[in-house]
Amino acid sequence: MWNLFCTNEWVDFFTRTPLPNKAEIIEFLAPQFPLLINVLQQLPDACFEEPSANMYGTRSEYWNYQDSFLLLGDAIHGMAPFYAMGMNTCFEDCAIFDQQLQQHGDIGTVIATFQKYRKPDVDAMQDIAFQNFRNLSNSSDSSFDQEWRLDRLLSQYCPDHWASESALISFHDLPVAQVKQRVAQQQQFISAQRLTYDSLVQKTSAEISELCQQIKTLFHPYKPTI
Ligand SMILES: Cc1cc2nc3c(=O)[nH]c(=O)nc-3n(C[C@H](O)[C@H](O)[C@H](O)COP(=O)(O)OP(=O)(O)OC[C@H]3O[C@@H](n4cnc5c(N)ncnc54)[C@H](O)[C@@H]3O)c2cc1C
Repeated sequence: MWNLFCTNEWVDFFTRTPLPNKAEIIEFLAPQFPLLINVLQQLPDACFEEPSANMYGTRSEYWNYQDSFLLLGDAIHGMAPFYAMGMNTCFEDCAIFDQQLQQHGDIGTVIATFQKYRKPDVDAMQDIAFQNFRNLSNSSDSSFDQEWRLDRLLSQYCPDHWASESALISFHDLPVAQVKQRVAQQQQFISAQRLTYDSLVQKTSAEISELCQQIKTLFHPYKPTI
């Protein structure tokens, strides 16, 4: 299976009937991805014969049966791969289950209470993954690019107190529901200050220090765990 995140114009090509064959796909991708062509040519023809599939996430309201049965991983929360966090979320389920077991010492208690403790973070990760899909879908839009560069620049100016969503997800063990909340607060700050990438690069060093001072008072320090 291979993933290609592409703009809407490309979807017609990849979903047409009959499906494009290997030679047509290679010809289509060659101008954009010249380094990929050798790799694609070596793949067996069968790799190109599967129709493209939809990607989706699944949520369940009930993760356990009383204190005797509990599902973890994709079996209970299929994660659309738009943040590449499905497997990580499954590993995290296991690590947290283990932590809870150490804490309570009784497996029945952990099975009965795990969903209440864990689901808010898994739901938040699924929300973030879908939002990332929407962002990627609009990534040809220059406003998305500006927002992304603004976030990066703020992280450079105030590295201890400003963190992009991807840094918080990938390099921090902050629970994901809290990441979602913090990113929303950072967005509110950007809106309240009417900050844009263009306005930030034009600020003097004194103005940047003042801005960082405000950020320090509003956001607790960011300490990556990895
Ligand atoms: C296209 C794609 C890209 C992805 N990319 C990423 C990524 O970049 N990063 C990331 O973190 N995650 C990614 N994921 C998600 C990740 O692959 C899954 O979240 C992860 O594999 C789920 O692990 P799991 O053990 O819960 O389930 P699975 O990996 O699905 O394991 C379940 C196993 O149970 C077996 N099984 C099913 N029914 C039975 C039965 N009745 N009896 C016995 N065995 C059975 C299955 O054969 C399978 O081996 C991606 C997923 C997809 C689809």
